[in-house]
Amino acid sequence: MTAVDVLVVGAGPAGASAAVWARRAGLDVVVADRAAQGRDKCCGDGLTTLALRELECLGLRPALLDSWMQVETACVRAPGGRIIRLPLPGGRGQFAAVCRRTQLDSALVDLAVASGADVRLGTAFAGFTDPGDSASVASIRLSDDDLITARFVVAADGVYSAVRKALGIGPARYRGDWHAFRGYLRASGEAARRMWVWFEPDLLPGYAWSFPLGDGRVNVGFGIPRKTGQPRKTGQRSSASGTGTLVGTEVAAVWAGLTERPHIAGVLGPHEPDGTTRAWPIPARLGGLSLAHGRVLICGDAAAAADPLTGEGIGQAIQMGRMAASAIARGGPPHSVAARYVAGAQAEYALDHRLARGLSRILAHERLAEVALGMVDATGWTQRQFARWMFEDYPRAAVATPRRWNRGMTNARGAYASEAVAVAPVPSRSPS
Ligand SMILES: Cc1cc2nc3c(=O)[nH]c(=O)nc-3n(C[C@H](O)[C@H](O)[C@H](O)COP(=O)(O)OP(=O)(O)OC[C@H]3O[C@@H](n4cnc5c(N)ncnc54)[C@H](O)[C@@H]3O)c2cc1C
Repeated sequence: MTAVDVLVVGAGPAGASAAVWARRAGLDVVVADRAAQGRDKCCGDGLTTLALRELECLGLRPALLDSWMQVETACVRAPGGRIIRLPLPGGRGQFAAVCRRTQLDSALVDLAVASGADVRLGTAFAGFTDPGDSASVASIRLSDDDLITARFVVAADGVYSAVRKALGIGPARYRGDWHAFRGYLRASGEAARRMWVWFEPDLLPGYAWSFPLGDGRVNVGFGIPRKTGQPRKTGQRSSASGTGTLVGTEVAAVWAGLTERPHIAGVLGPHEPDGTTRAWPIPARLGGLSLAHGRVLICGDAAAAADPLTGEGIGQAIQMGRMAASAIARGGPPHSVAARYVAGAQAEYALDHRLARGLSRILAHERLAEVALGMVDATGWTQRQFARWMFEDYPRAAVATPRRWNRGMTNARGAYASEAVAVAPVPSRSPS
């Protein structure tokens, strides 16, 4: 039997962050993750400015990760074929990067261990013997048969959160809001050096991507919102109402043919698969799921915190882990800690995610997507601003929330401004 201040369930980005920040606040922490170190989370491996700034604060060193690739320009193909180049600020740190999740998550586990947390890999959350209440602490059974008593539990155990299920706080049979596929390729074309996003008419408001890694491979995949509505056939354009979606076998068919689409194949160049492809849901409905329950604070994918427009969730997961640790460290009874955490998360994300959901609805319409991306491409200034907004250099709804304005917000440095790492070079000619 072990008594701690905080039990963190899950050692992904959210859990590792919660553990490090709780330890820095002087709290006793056990972290349990059912997977072994170096688990391969199905992901695009893309890191936004938000994620990079959080990783830097955690003490993660990109130079030690050989798959790490800083991105200086992203290329976007609009549904009609227009290519838009989105340059990120140069010489002022990193605003976007790509890193294999096996390496990133392993490095995050190392940081949690180094912080002094008792990290137990291959150890699952097996259930509550008592979730606790305002007077009694929580008791949790782990799969290593240890009984943990904890003042607080941080649920950072992903989209299918076992902790959430054990608390009975649903939603029942929740399978995320996006469905996303990912595979690795060895590619020798333009894609090996540059980040690409394709807004394919049959995937809108979703998109396909190719993200370059520093180890000579690329992460290729696509994501589509999981919505109720009329299924549509592969290759069919998005419906005027934007209610179209792909179903099971059609998703598999898209994946099978994705890299053979001429404009994508042209960017990839000669390529061959490297490892198996995988699919996994992305939960993106922050506020739709409980963020706290009694002595349990819920973070990252377990709280459905991914961005509803892009499906990116690493930055939010790390940030929420930090916010949960900070809410616990400030002390007080469980209901005050929970209220503090929930209020902080709502203030940070609620409006941004509402805006992102609205924009996603616009992108569902091919013509509106074309117009919106045309506006992005209007001038060098709009391209630069969109790139920084897209990569979460500042909050999605920053313009509408003056309380978050601060001096230099639109001119802030990226992360790791003083470190030299691999940079995806900008090729001399534009691809067709
Ligand atoms: C195909 C795809 C592409 C994506 N691309 C990107 C991208 O490019 N950029 C981006 O920012 N986001 C991306 N995302 C989203 C991103 O992967 C997630 O938002 C992020 O991993 C959430 O981190 P987390 O720590 O909350 O959860 P997770 O990373 O899922 O970690 C949860 C941890 O909990 C552990 N766990 C689960 N159950 C238990 C249990 N019962 N007991 C103990 N431990 C348990 C798991 O082993 C795991 O280590 C993508 C997602 C998908 C599916």
